[in-house]
Amino acid sequence: MGRRQDTSGWGGNGRSGSVARVLEALRSDGPSSQAALARRTRLSPATINNIVKQLRAEGAAEIRPVNGRESVVSLVSSRGVVVSVQVNVTSLHAALFDFVHRARYDVTIPFSPGHEGGSPARVIEVVRSLVAEAGLETGDLTGVAVGMQAPIARPTGVVTSWARLQLPRWKDVVVADHLGAELGVPVVADNDANLAALAEWTWGAGQGTDTFLYVLSSEQVGGGLVLGGRIHRGGDGLAGEIGHAVLEPGGPVCFCGNRGCLTTFVAERPILATLEAAAGARASSLADVIAAARGGDPACARVLFEAGRHLGRAFANAAKLVAPSVIAVGGLLGEAGELVFDGLNSSVEISNLRTVAPTLSVQLARLGADATLLGGLAAMMDHLGQGLSVLPEWAKTTSAARSFSN
Ligand SMILES: [Zn+2]
Repeated sequence: MGRRQDTSGWGGNGRSGSVARVLEALRSDGPSSQAALARRTRLSPATINNIVKQLRAEGAAEIRPVNGRESVVSLVSSRGVVVSVQVNVTSLHAALFDFVHRARYDVTIPFSPGHEGGSPARVIEVVRSLVAEAGLETGDLTGVAVGMQAPIARPTGVVTSWARLQLPRWKDVVVADHLGAELGVPVVADNDANLAALAEWTWGAGQGTDTFLYVLSSEQVGGGLVLGGRIHRGGDGLAGEIGHAVLEPGGPVCFCGNRGCLTTFVAERPILATLEAAAGARASSLADVIAAARGGDPACARVLFEAGRHLGRAFANAAKLVAPSVIAVGGLLGEAGELVFDGLNSSVEISNLRTVAPTLSVQLARLGADATLLGGLAAMMDHLGQGLSVLPEWAKTTSAARSFSN
């Protein structure tokens, strides 16, 4: 995949000298502190300060504080077109963000049980159809972001081998390179929870913190970790995979090959199985369980309370390794609110954690089901050295949403 010549209007507008060096550093490294810009460009801190002031005055850059001492400079733009795609085991979602016309278009494709899920070809087809629906051409695209419901191994860029059965059509596909070559635009690919963490850190519950743990708990459980203002992926993309933290060494077998992972207790399937064993089939989805619990079903309320306790144990263990300032819970279990948080807050491990880390805040994620798609947008902007400190209203709501069946 080659980076396309700049025809989109994102950056590259013929600046020269020191300003060009600062822009290049921001494009290649993404948002940076002024100190990092000075090191990278070998310009003096005073020169960097002047250039950043100039870019801010032009509306081309923004400064966002990361913690009390440091702030990060980002580029901003009112141009460009980004498509963000979310590849789940049971569905495919995509959104096109048109910065020129300030409009967003969405598409959702649910897969029936037993279906092999979204293939690379299907993703390409969806991107092209969204571009056409927006009245644009593929050449108008600035970039495409893909969030996969599986960890992506680094540096190979393929879905990690132990999670391959989750997304069989992506076996051995170098996600970003393959789609980039087919579409002829820059493509970034990451794990869905990493992208959601990036969005929540940029625009949601983690804003203004520099150590942030995000946990996406819905049909499955994923996590993303922001350290020092960047997604921390670690070897094999495994960092933040809290869903596979072992809570009970003798617990149920997990698809990753371990026993007793967090995901074997709080993912949709084990929650449904627990209810079924207790009282026959009462609900066919996690959303049903939450609705029934809200309606007063005691068994449904009980399994959600216990899911909260399991999350609490896993959070307490993770917190002792990385000491996040904020842990945010997204996905359906986060949206279940006190049905899950009551259990979480009552767990012995969380109580203990509060005595050693009194400033830690465990809270609801703010961007809801949109977090992964918005994280794709944030990741693509990072990739291009752009940034948006404030998410515009138009990017939060779709202009046109379609739903297909397979
Ligand atoms: Zn596991």
